[in-house]
Amino acid sequence: MKILRIDHLGVAVNDAAAARKFWCGVLGLPYEKAETVAEQKVTTHFLPVGESEVELLESTSPDGPVAKYIEKKGEGVQHVAFRVENIEEALADLKSKGVQLIDEKPRTGAGGAKIAFLHPKATGGVLVELCQRD
Ligand code: ZN
Repeated sequence: MKILRIDHLGVAVNDAAAARKFWCGVLGLPYEKAETVAEQKVTTHFLPVGESEVELLESTSPDGPVAKYIEKKGEGVQHVAFRVENIEEALADLKSKGVQLIDEKPRTGAGGAKIAFLHPKATGGVLVELCQRD
């Protein structure tokens, strides 16, 4: 598998408008846009940083995965996403190495990217996302 770069850091927040006061207001990151992925009950706010992004993740529902994450661990960095050249190939490679996957097959994430998550048990506690953008 070939990892090209860090695509984005996913940061779980309770209130994206409040979080933007720090990320945009203090750090000066530009605010690109927001996109809601209904299936994952999340609104993603994109803050570009060079060739990567910070993504503020705000739950649209108390039973969404981001809300549950915050309930357990509090606000903060929720996942690291690596951009890969070929996500199917990367998943097959990881599977052959015995890595526990959350997504055996890619699904569609924000921005139309193909994404898949690896299980934190297999990564030393870090929720790792693979991401392919065409
Ligand atoms: Zn992500």
